[in-house]
Amino acid sequence: MILPLKYIQHNDFNNEVITARSSGAQGQLLLAKVNLQNKLPRTKLTSPESACELSFLVARGRIFSLQRGTVASGAVAVAQQFAAWWLGQPDILATAPHRESVPCARGSMAAPARGSIDVSLVVVVHGGGASNISADRKERVREGIAKAATEGYKILKAGGSAVDAVEGAVTVLENDPEFNAGCGSVLNVKGDVEMDASIMDGRDLSAGAVSAVRCIANPTKLARLVMEKTPHCFLTGHGAEKFAADMGIPETPLEKLITERSKKHLEKEKLEKGAQKADCPKNSGTVGAVALDCKGNLAYATSTGGIVNKMVGRVGDSPCIGAGGYADNNVGAVSTTGHGESILKVNLARLALFHVEQGKTVDEAAELALNYMKSKLKGLGGLILVSKTGDWVAKWTSATMPWAAVKNGKLQAGIDLCDTKTMTMDLC
Ligand code: ASP
Repeated sequence: MILPLKYIQHNDFNNEVITARSSGAQGQLLLAKVNLQNKLPRTKLTSPESACELSFLVARGRIFSLQRGTVASGAVAVAQQFAAWWLGQPDILATAPHRESVPCARGSMAAPARGSIDVSLVVVVHGGGASNISADRKERVREGIAKAATEGYKILKAGGSAVDAVEGAVTVLENDPEFNAGCGSVLNVKGDVEMDASIMDGRDLSAGAVSAVRCIANPTKLARLVMEKTPHCFLTGHGAEKFAADMGIPETPLEKLITERSKKHLEKEKLEKGAQKADCPKNSGTVGAVALDCKGNLAYATSTGGIVNKMVGRVGDSPCIGAGGYADNNVGAVSTTGHGESILKVNLARLALFHVEQGKTVDEAAELALNYMKSKLKGLGGLILVSKTGDWVAKWTSATMPWAAVKNGKLQAGIDLCDTKTMTMDLC
């Protein structure tokens, strides 16, 4: 069966890698990758849903397929068409037979195919990797996360930068008491709020972060000011708060940041003598966003109250560049969530982008990075990733991770593995 080739995507001209994309019979995403550096001796085909691989030997303008493993239906045809297009050779030899296999990637959403090589606007947000979210909170969380993604997308539509979009999206979530960031932050052992946040601009790798800040409504805005108005990357505690005052950011009384839910959460945690375990993240709601703007610029922002019942002065991964997030226009942007001590040890965000640099799809890269953290440290978490070409993924190993994404004017959102409900809204 020959399927229509959806589009040819010039993935990375500097590295001379080209990706062709199409959909399989059941709508699965199929990719054919060609490395032009070697004058096209081989075409490597990957199908993220089935994690299969197939190598094509290209010789004298013809393709001879060398099958390895199981190949998703239609994938071979995609690679054939791609190579035919590239070589200007309609005469392609038949390939070896293949078996059908289309397992579903749980907890991820592959990006829909793009119609051309122009840059799509993309915003993806997360509301924190956590244990189960109660039924009564689910709708509020879904609404909050969708609102944040919509806000980020509106900023991009109006010509705003990726940095503007991630700041705008995360600010919505910091102001929403359902999430563990800004108002609604979890409490430390003394019943106090200490928040961490970071932001990064993929254009020039400029970054800003704050940690253990208390009386501020929007730590992400402060992180951005650190990035733009100081020669530093990271301010902490009193220094960060003094800088906020110098920048004219009004002080927010602690009572305004502390909710009844976070008080109860701390009480419960103390009763359970809950030492935070890597494989049992109990927080809900650390927030983050990644975005790709119309100029092809990438950015991320991550903001959190940290982990409940934490020691005074504990700083997690969220403000640490490379762990809580990373953005580089040459690769992609990531924001992470989950067990902070594990995320720090594996540098989760940079690790995921390393896999993208190595030629993995966004789905494979997210899975490899999260599985590494789980197998090495039993650490659970999640991440959102958008590549420089606009492919995105939301993936997690914790029980839940509310996420929402807008691309090409379409909003999609989900909460957890059991609740795969998504909503589609036309934002064009
Ligand atoms: N990563 C955050 C921290 O450890 C918490 C979370 O994302 O749930 O501070």
